[in-house]
Amino acid sequence: MSDAYAQSTTEADRAIPGPLASYTTLRMGGPAGRIVAAGGADEIIRAVQAADEPVLILAGGSNVVIGDAGFPGTVVLVRSGGLRVVAEDAGSVTVRVEAGEPWDDLVAATVANGWAGVECLSGIPGSTGATPIQNVGAYGQEVAETITGVEVYDRVGGTRQFIPAADCGFAYRGSIFKYRDRWVVLSVDFRLARSPLSGPVRYAELGRALGVEVGERVPLADARAAVLRLRAGKGMVLDATDPDTRSVGSFFTNPVLDRATYELLRERAVELGEPPHWPGADDTVKVSAAWLIDKAGFVKGHPGPDGVAISSKHTLALTNRTGTAHTADLIALARDIRDTVHTRFGVTLHPEPVLINCTV
Ligand SMILES: Cc1cc2nc3c(=O)[nH]c(=O)nc-3n(C[C@H](O)[C@H](O)[C@H](O)COP(=O)(O)OP(=O)(O)OC[C@H]3O[C@@H](n4cnc5c(N)ncnc54)[C@H](O)[C@@H]3O)c2cc1C
Repeated sequence: MSDAYAQSTTEADRAIPGPLASYTTLRMGGPAGRIVAAGGADEIIRAVQAADEPVLILAGGSNVVIGDAGFPGTVVLVRSGGLRVVAEDAGSVTVRVEAGEPWDDLVAATVANGWAGVECLSGIPGSTGATPIQNVGAYGQEVAETITGVEVYDRVGGTRQFIPAADCGFAYRGSIFKYRDRWVVLSVDFRLARSPLSGPVRYAELGRALGVEVGERVPLADARAAVLRLRAGKGMVLDATDPDTRSVGSFFTNPVLDRATYELLRERAVELGEPPHWPGADDTVKVSAAWLIDKAGFVKGHPGPDGVAISSKHTLALTNRTGTAHTADLIALARDIRDTVHTRFGVTLHPEPVLINCTV
């Protein structure tokens, strides 16, 4: 079975102890009890049923931080693929996509077919089946807008089920699936508009890159190209030659604060001006984690212990700079950032990736 997710190997990478490192974009993680690759929905279910507890489902390995001690149980690698149209009308198509289908291959196919709705999510690494887990989002789009439902294997009931989007609990970088191993995603249904144009551009930086105002639409291929360019400039498209991409993307989510905590932040940051922020539901305010980290003194390129560093292109990405660094050192840098931001601004940062056998 060819492995679309295999990380390329360099001299430095071969020195990392433990095989799980080669299945993660961070190139970190110790040994596994057992690793099984499953190439289709039935195979995934059989692999999970046959596995000794505990089980870790791993696809692209782009949103996991695995401890240096590794994972003692069975790791099931999701290696299914393919998509098919399951419903269509004059204005839309619904595509069912196997969990292991590489996400960016799907986005490229939707753009080529004139199906709008995920074009701003171009260049995000990993699998399609993982996108509902944290409601993947970028540049003003998130998958919750187009997912109509998720087919899962329920490990508690031992059944295959279709969970409609309304029951997936989608939220900012979250869903009922995140941090829970009850459901194994087998396929995901997306309803996409038949349109040569993107949805209205919502993100100011993307609008500037495209030379349009927020709210305007652009050809799908232009949206994809602009997003890929912006992402590459921030080290947010995987590139084996670029150590800044040896990461999990953003390490921290943007904190969502109640009004009182936001006012406290403003007081503490008074000499820095108004913190970048976005109003949310129920009088909450989302603030920029990158701004907090930068203003707390952790600038791009900031070195951590033993080969880890903040990306030289993006404050939110913690990287395995040398390719031989250990999870413990990445965690030490993450703790230092979290604690310093808390002391300085009274705001607690939370990790975005799923931490396995390690904790910040
Ligand atoms: C350079 C870079 C840029 C990134 N940019 C973004 C971004 O812009 N926006 C964003 O939201 N994320 C981003 N990410 C994070 C990541 O790419 C996404 O979260 C992606 O969806 C993870 O997919 P994966 O297949 O790699 O998941 P994995 O890392 O393999 O798994 C992540 C979690 O999902 C679970 N999981 C995976 N597949 C299944 C399944 N089939 N069933 C049940 N559970 C499953 C795993 O057990 C684990 O808990 C970025 C990461 C990198 C490295």
